Amino acid sequence: MASWRYAAPAHPLVHLIPAFNDNYFWLLQSPGSSRAAVVDPGDADPVLKALDDRSLHLVCILLTHHHADHAGGVAELVARTGARVVGPDTVKIPTVTEPVRDHAKVDTGLGGHLARVLTVPGHTLDHIAYALPSLGADPRPLLFCGDTLFAAGCGRMFEGTPPQMVASLDRLAALAPDTLVYCAHEYTLSNLRFAAAAEPDSSAVTERLAEASEMRARGLPTVPSTIAIERATNPFLRADQPAVIRQAAHHQQAAPADRVETFAVLRQWKNDFR
Ligand code: ZN
Ligand code: FE
Repeated sequence: MASWRYAAPAHPLVHLIPAFNDNYFWLLQSPGSSRAAVVDPGDADPVLKALDDRSLHLVCILLTHHHADHAGGVAELVARTGARVVGPDTVKIPTVTEPVRDHAKVDTGLGGHLARVLTVPGHTLDHIAYALPSLGADPRPLLFCGDTLFAAGCGRMFEGTPPQMVASLDRLAALAPDTLVYCAHEYTLSNLRFAAAAEPDSSAVTERLAEASEMRARGLPTVPSTIAIERATNPFLRADQPAVIRQAAHHQQAAPADRVETFAVLRQWKNDFR
């Protein structure tokens, strides 16, 4: 297959660093220089190796939230590279040197490319996402959304509430349709199996599940997707769709009162879904 319909072509300056069981750290390379930034390095070793392999040097670390699989490698990376550490304004990540709030414009150190901060509480209360208008010659916007929006899914609500998570997902879903969505885990197959239960008549979900299965069988990442792909197939962005409401109602044996309750039913259903 020349190109995939439900996964976007790789960005030439964004490199995937696989880690742990299913984490993805994202290495961003500056156009025309050896500077690099990394998003959510939960472990230093694979990042140091990726930098070495590509002869890049790390100038900036971007953190989305405090969980160890995202921030656990920061202290060692700082000791080894002296990189700046941008992250949420919280006491839970003592390694952050540049705490940021909603709408902040972050200097990524990548030759003038600024990232915009979006606060997206729900998975954790400190969760933020980074949106870049573009990087280098590739015109596509980029979103680094940690554990908030996943390919065909969303993060568990460990700290936030359904209204918070829905508002956070709405902010991300409102970004330009061609925005590349870089999430922090390869959960896509499991998410799509659930999506097929939440929206059983969707041919887009069925096709995406078949395609993602083929990609994973070939050892390929299913990330990045795009906002357009997520809006078309991610059940957590589709809690306003009659077919999804119907399935949520069937699951809890009662009609959800509104879109937030539909979302909450889906999220709870997914937690127990096998
Ligand atoms: Zn997390
Ligand atoms: Fe995580």
